[in-house]
Order: sequence, then C-alpha cells, then structure tokens
Amino acid sequence: MKGLIELLCDFDGTVALEDTVDLLLEQLADPAWRILEERWVRGEIDSRECMAGQIPLIQGGWAAIRRILEGARVDPTFAGFAVWCRRRGIRLRIVSGGIDRVIHYLLAREGITVDEIWAPHLVEDERGRLTLDFPASTGRTRCGSTFCKCELFAGRMPRPLRILVGDGRSDFCCARQADWIFARDTLITHCRAQAIDFLPFEDFAEIRRILELRVLRPSGDKLRVSSPSLTSG
Ligand SMILES: [Mg+2]
Ligand SMILES: [Zn+2]
Repeated sequence: MKGLIELLCDFDGTVALEDTVDLLLEQLADPAWRILEERWVRGEIDSRECMAGQIPLIQGGWAAIRRILEGARVDPTFAGFAVWCRRRGIRLRIVSGGIDRVIHYLLAREGITVDEIWAPHLVEDERGRLTLDFPASTGRTRCGSTFCKCELFAGRMPRPLRILVGDGRSDFCCARQADWIFARDTLITHCRAQAIDFLPFEDFAEIRRILELRVLRPSGDKLRVSSPSLTSG
C-alpha cells in the first residue's frame, strides 16, 4: 500500500519548534541578511535568491552551525509520528526551504528516520565558506518562483493523496495544490485569506489522531482512504 498517502512536511517551525535558518542567521550571520529577508517578505526576490544570498553570510562554517543547533528543539511528538507513518505505509517526506544538513543532523540526533529529505544542499569549502545548491527537481514552477514546493505537488499517476503540513511562508504558494492541509501560525492566516480549507494542529500526535479517524479506515490489513472533505478551522 506504499504510495497511497504522501505526507509532505515542512521542517522549520513545523518539525523544528523554531526556524533553524533564522536562528543561524541571527546568531552567526553578517546583519546584511536582514535586507535580503525584507526584500523576500515584500516579494521583490524569491526564496532561492534570498537563501542563496543569506547562507554565505553565515560565519564559522559547519562547526559554528552545530554549536548553535545544540539549542534547537524538535517537536517531541514527531519521532513517534514518523514510526507510525512507516507502520501505516504513509510516505513521510520532509520538504523544506531550509538547509538539508541541518535537517539530517537534527533528525539523526533524535533517532528519527523519514522517507526523504528534500531541501537545499549545504556546501562548505575548505575555508569554511558556505553556499547552497538547490534540488534538481526545482525549476520555474507554475507559481513563478524559481524555488518552492509547488513542483512536489505536480502530476504523476497514479496520484497519491498529498497532505501538506506546514506553518509559514514557504508553504503558501503550494497550499492550493495539496489535498489536505494541516496548518499553524501564518499558514492559517494565509489559508483563511485565500479561502483554502485546512485543519489547524498543535502537534503530530493530533495529526495522527485526525488521520486515523478521518483518512485511514482499518479494514483487514489494508488501508483505505476516505474522500477528503474539510471544514475551515
Ligand atoms: Mg516553516
Ligand atoms: Zn510555488
């Protein structure tokens, strides 16, 4: 039954309780990162241009990043949720506009395994200078961004039920393409403003409860998908 349901889960502010990219920029980067951030928020540059400009401003290489990450917290309900997804044959993909190595590091620290980590790739040269490589699957997408999650929701048959879990701006443009959305923080505001159905969530234990109740119906050892019908939270 693998592939029937795909859970596309944001990382920063969703799995990690704080935004790890913001944390690293605030602690380690030249203050010029804020100028890029403001331009991104105003929509003058897209997230690829923003991140590609910000990451080289981080000082101290991976060693400095790892020190900062010691204080980064992962939602304590996520580890159990990942095990449950595997058991139920739900494909769990971390899809993030953040930094792949940070995600790999924090999930390994917590002993968490997921099916895929899709995120920009951190490259460090011998002098500790950092740059980002973007996933090959990203190109100019239907929303016009040169880097976003829209492509992950495109075509492919048979199409799995695609569930988005997210909290913020990196989830905005792909939100309309998801079959179900679990949202918190500014993603809630966005969904309300755009009249997109969503379910609010506190943690991953709550997502599991809702999926068990409304999506997965036990019938023998098979999973069945009930048709999604949402009400705005
Ligand atoms: Mg986020
Ligand atoms: Zn997009």
